[in-house]
Order: sequence, then C-alpha cells, then structure tokens
Amino acid sequence: MSRIILRNCPHRVLQVSLRRNANVRGFAAAAATSFDWEDPLLAKTLLTEEEVAVGETAERYCQERLLPRVLQAYRDEDYDSKILREMGELGLLGATIQGYGCAGVSTVAGGLITRAVERVDSGYRSGMSVQSSLVMGGIHEFGSAELKERLLPGMARGEILGAFGLTEPNHGSDPGSMETVARRHPQKTGVYLLSGAKTWITNSPIADVLLVWAKLEETGKIRGFVVERKDCPAGTLETPAIKNKNGLRASITGMIQLDNCPVREENMFPEVEGLKGPFSCLNSARYGIALGTMGALEDCIARARTYALERKQFKGNPLAKYQLVQKKLADAVTDATYGTLAAIQVGRLKDEGKATPEMISLIKRQNCDKALHNARVLQEIFGGNAVSDEYGIGRHVANLYVTQTYEGQSDIHSLILGRAITGVQAFA
Ligand SMILES: Cc1cc2nc3c(=O)[nH]c(=O)nc-3n(C[C@H](O)[C@H](O)[C@H](O)COP(=O)(O)OP(=O)(O)OC[C@H]3O[C@@H](n4cnc5c(N)ncnc54)[C@H](O)[C@@H]3O)c2cc1C
Repeated sequence: MSRIILRNCPHRVLQVSLRRNANVRGFAAAAATSFDWEDPLLAKTLLTEEEVAVGETAERYCQERLLPRVLQAYRDEDYDSKILREMGELGLLGATIQGYGCAGVSTVAGGLITRAVERVDSGYRSGMSVQSSLVMGGIHEFGSAELKERLLPGMARGEILGAFGLTEPNHGSDPGSMETVARRHPQKTGVYLLSGAKTWITNSPIADVLLVWAKLEETGKIRGFVVERKDCPAGTLETPAIKNKNGLRASITGMIQLDNCPVREENMFPEVEGLKGPFSCLNSARYGIALGTMGALEDCIARARTYALERKQFKGNPLAKYQLVQKKLADAVTDATYGTLAAIQVGRLKDEGKATPEMISLIKRQNCDKALHNARVLQEIFGGNAVSDEYGIGRHVANLYVTQTYEGQSDIHSLILGRAITGVQAFA
C-alpha cells in the first residue's frame, strides 16, 4: 500500500492508498470499452494522479466516518464540531491554499473534496466550505500577514472555527444594502465598534472567528472585519442558533448580533473595499458547491438505482424494468455527468487565471438546479418509503433546496448571466 503526502503539508495529511477500495466509489479504473454508469464520460481520465489521491482520501473518510453519523445528526439537528478537526487532520480544510499548513492542491482537487463530503450530506459540506473557502479563503486573500500567520494554521487543523457573516435579516440577495456598520471607537484609537445583525449564518454559534462584512461609517464602503470571539466583551457579540430547520439539519446555523462590538483595526482587511471582498470569497465557495452538489446527486442516483433493482411491483418485476423509472435514472445520470465535466473545466480555467465570476455562476446555478430537480424526481422511485428518513433521499432533497438558495439564489445567478449576455442589468 503506497502512501502519498502532498507538498506543503506538514502534518498527517492526505495520506492515501492508491489501491482501489471497494467501499469508496468514484475513481474505479474502468475499461475503455465498457459503460460505467457512475462515470459515463470517464471524467476521472481528466484528473491528475494527485487529484485522484485527494478524492480517494476524502471519499474514504466521508464514507467510513461521516456516513455512519449523519442520520442521527440530522434527526437531532446536532452538528459535531469535532468533524472539522478530523477534516483538519486529513488536510481537507483550506486545501487549495498554499502554505500555512494547508495542502495546496488544485481547484479541481478541492472540488473533489466537497463532492465527497456532499455525497454524505450538504450540511457537512456547508460547515467545511464556510471554514475553508469563505473564511480561510477570505483571510488568505485579503488579510494582513499577521492575521494569516496567526489564524490560518489553527483553522487548517480545525482548531479555530470560522463563520462568514454577509446576509442580514432585511438584505439577502442584495447585500450592498446591508445595515451593519463599523464606527471608529470614540476614545480608543485603532479600534472599530461593529453594530448590526446577520442571519442564517452557518457555524456562527460555534465559531471562534467571524468574518463580518460591515459598512465603514466614515466612507459608506463595505469592509471585512475578523471578529474574534475571545476578544468580545460580554453583551457585544451574541450568536444564537436558528433551530428547527427543515433542511441542512446536520449543520449548525445561527445569527450574529453585534452591539458596539470592538474589533482592532489590524483585524480589518486592509485593502479590499465594497462587494468585491465578499463576492471574491463566495466565488471559491460557489465552485465547491457546484462539484459538491454533484456528489449529493450521485448518491441519490446510487440509492434510487439500488432501490429500483430490489423493489418489485406488478408480476414480480423490479421497478428498474419499467421505462419511466429508467428515464428518471437516465436524466439524472446525464445531468450529473454534464455538471461534473463542466465543473472540472471551470476548475482548470480557475487555476490558469482564466475563470470569470459568470462561469462560476453558470455552474453553481446549473448544478444546484439539476441536483435539486433530479433528486426530487428520483425520490418518486421510492414511493411511500421516500418519506422514511432511513432511505436518505428526502434528506438530500431538503438539503439541495438550501444549496440552490444560498450563495446566490439560482434566479440571482440567472440575472448575473443575463447581464453578461445582454449588457443590461436587471437586478433593480
Ligand atoms: C441553511 C442556510 C445557511 C446559510 N449560510 C449562510 C452563511 O454562512 N453566510 C451568509 O452570509 N449567508 C448564509 N445564508 C443566507 C443565504 O445566502 C440567503 O438566504 C440567500 O442569499 C437569499 O437571501 P434571502 O434569504 O434574504 O432571500 P431574498 O433575497 O429575500 O430572496 C427571496 C427570493 O426572491 C428572489 N429575488 C430577490 N431579488 C430578486 C430580483 N432582483 N429579481 C428576481 N428575483 C429576486 C430570490 O432569487 C429568491 O428566490 C444561509 C442560508 C441558509 C438557508
């Protein structure tokens, strides 16, 4: 059994077996002449050896360690923050970042990690994406050298947990209208006071650091502030959980309530102003969602296929014998295949510096819409049993609604694409 340790990665990370593990799907070597319903257009042939290794490591961890926990976690709406530590030990957090204890893998490899996690549950992937892309990615791209050195290694190990606060109760799709404000402290130089509320924030109740976007009172421009919970006096920062969700129940979601919360000037991103900051972080996370949702869809396909082969109706025939059932599977497999290939292409372009935000909008929108649509259709194959959480399909359907909604609802991405196509903006 050979092991791979990826470059730049000092701790026990991404150690993988290249030997095929029957429990880990996704990268089986297929004969060129046979059709592989799990990878019909041989997307795996587009991957480097390192990407295959990263994907296998992630798949193995997710199938062996996450899958056995998810049903109970979803029922109890209980997110185990140890998961981020486990992911950190494997080098799965902030994996595309170079240095700071991160693995420094390609964008596609990062997407294969999200795909593996989301094959189990979109909530687990959300917790990881917020940590990796939104907060670590933001600090890496825009933070001062001191902030990066101080926070990124601990975040890569999953010891420091992050949340990303952009959405507000009155401003979701239109974050430019945000009301959260940062004022200079009237007495203390080099300190800002943040006031306002953010809502629907993944990880906020457990986060040690919260990347909060607020308008600087003196300029009216949006700036990024890294709020460190340990530095917040009592009563200035509250992060109550939002309970009783009907999707993404295996992740933890909450609010961020700021009441003159003091933040040192060094914790403000020094250069970036306006929506460029949050949108740049979202770009990377949206890429992860595009490949991630393909993992959820593939799991729906695998579950529906197995069920259709086992369940017999009318003269002892398996459901899989019926044309209408086969069409549902054919449509879903086709959409998963196209979505995966498109995401690999955009990942390559991103690493070459040729990806535009519209490309990310295109794959985020298409893959989320297709994953949700097909999951809903495949759910029908399970008949009444779909209503039991034991079958897993209903959980994916509920989760995929959220993926279609957050980080730019699909219709908002249509407007981004429409603007790029016509040159006319239709937001307001
Ligand atoms: C479980 C969960 C986790 C989340 N995690 C985070 C997080 O970690 N950080 C964070 O900042 N946010 C997070 N969000 C928030 C999420 O990003 C927002 O819900 C999303 O941006 C949509 O905003 P909204 O809910 O206010 O909907 P609205 O903006 O009120 O939109 C409602 C509907 O109207 C449509 N609409 C709005 N404007 C237009 C228009 N001009 N033209 C046409 N249609 C329009 C939208 O497409 C949508 O269908 C999370 C949400 C959920 C549910």
